[in-house]
Amino acid sequence: MSDSRVIFEKSVKDRMGIAIPKLDVPEISLSDSISPELLRETPANLPEVSEPQVVRHYVNLSVKNHHVDKDLYPLGSCTMKYNPKINDALASLPGFANIHPHQPVENVQGALHIMYELEQMLLKITGMSAATLQPSAGSQGEFAGILIMKKYHEQNGENRKYIIIPETAHGTNPASVSLGGFKAREVKSDNRGRVDFEDLKSKLDDEVAGMMLTQPNTLGLFENQIEAISEEVHKVGALMYMDGANMNAVVGLCKPAEMGFDIIHINLHKTFSTPHGGGGPGAGPIAVVEKLAPFLPIPKLIKDDNGKFNWTSDLPDSIGRLHSFFGNFGILVRAYVYIKMLGDSGLKSMTRVAIINANYLKNKLKDAYKIPFAEGTLHEFVASGVLQKAKGVKALDIAKALLDYGFYAPTIYFPNNVPEAMMIEPTESETKETLDRFVSALLEINEKINSDPDLVRDAPMTTPVIRLDETKANRELDLRWTP
Ligand SMILES: *Cc1c(COP(=O)(O)O)cnc(C)c1O
Repeated sequence: MSDSRVIFEKSVKDRMGIAIPKLDVPEISLSDSISPELLRETPANLPEVSEPQVVRHYVNLSVKNHHVDKDLYPLGSCTMKYNPKINDALASLPGFANIHPHQPVENVQGALHIMYELEQMLLKITGMSAATLQPSAGSQGEFAGILIMKKYHEQNGENRKYIIIPETAHGTNPASVSLGGFKAREVKSDNRGRVDFEDLKSKLDDEVAGMMLTQPNTLGLFENQIEAISEEVHKVGALMYMDGANMNAVVGLCKPAEMGFDIIHINLHKTFSTPHGGGGPGAGPIAVVEKLAPFLPIPKLIKDDNGKFNWTSDLPDSIGRLHSFFGNFGILVRAYVYIKMLGDSGLKSMTRVAIINANYLKNKLKDAYKIPFAEGTLHEFVASGVLQKAKGVKALDIAKALLDYGFYAPTIYFPNNVPEAMMIEPTESETKETLDRFVSALLEINEKINSDPDLVRDAPMTTPVIRLDETKANRELDLRWTP
């Protein structure tokens, strides 16, 4: 049995994990240098443990949870691809890792160069004219994009109220719309799982500021009427926004600007491999067409005539600042390394393999699980657990059962137009053998449901904690250990 106590319980008085060098400067008393109201009354209660105890503690914690370095992580819409170790190695170079945002531009030219080139690479990938790397997440990119739409219409002397979003939109879309001061107008999906074109036309008028569309959509399907959609939206003077959080089916094969989009955000922490999950730092750069460039946030990175990089805030029409400094730099370096390592042809095969992997899984699973919108699958697909539900087993139970096989679960109950939805995205990182193991697990779970549903309803049985109360942790949030 491993020692599962929390680190505070492992503490032994005066045990030390480090050797502090001998003091070689005069000792001063804390109360002489720090004003008394800032001083603690009692010392911080830090655990006193040895170095091996600390290492083992965190190694053991790290393997209790699932992560992509352990096995497949098919969480649809999240693109949990492998983060190549070279990304971390280069982002950890002292010149990057120890950089300070207040350093003068003269001595951070290398870092600015990387940011500038990353912007250029994203412009090439999207076909857009100008970009910013500032947003810290896809959702912040969306918010910035919505503010840009607002500024654009204000400049044209218009006060438009609505933004059109499909019923299948990611939850952040309606949130960004309303944070930006707009109202959402929902458009239905047709029986092919795409935007219902007739419904869209009936919802367009001169009060519409723009349309937000995920491409490919949340069913993993390409909106193949996209050019006609963009044309209709532009006809009423509105703008097209692409939720490009999931560019994994698009990169190198087609360009958002050529589909008629005016603004796009890109989740570097999805498509471009930087690690995510647990709320860690991300990056959601946005790119825009030329007429929207003046509205991008400040400061803007520029390259002067001598090839020197610098920041400028001389953009009178800018939406303003988005980030305390310049963006999540470590994430930007990882994305830069990933794109550079793959190059043009590598990025294309990344996209193709992601699409092949998703289609392979879909075809292997389609006899056991219902797949309602199956035509034209790209990087992910949505299976429905309705057949299993009829036997008393929910999508949630199937997701939990997968944990016993050592896999992470798919995204469940999203999008809303598929009952008992299980959204599966393998990414290009996985080998055929891994995909086959995953298929075997899902087929075996289905057989268990057919023979004895109880076998699945109580899963997981082999994980560090078994079935948890899904809502208690949200309703009674308590993150502090108390003795
Ligand atoms: C992940 C995702 C987002 C939000 O990105 P965050 O970085 O989590 O804010 C938006 N839209 C879609 C389709 C996504 O998959």
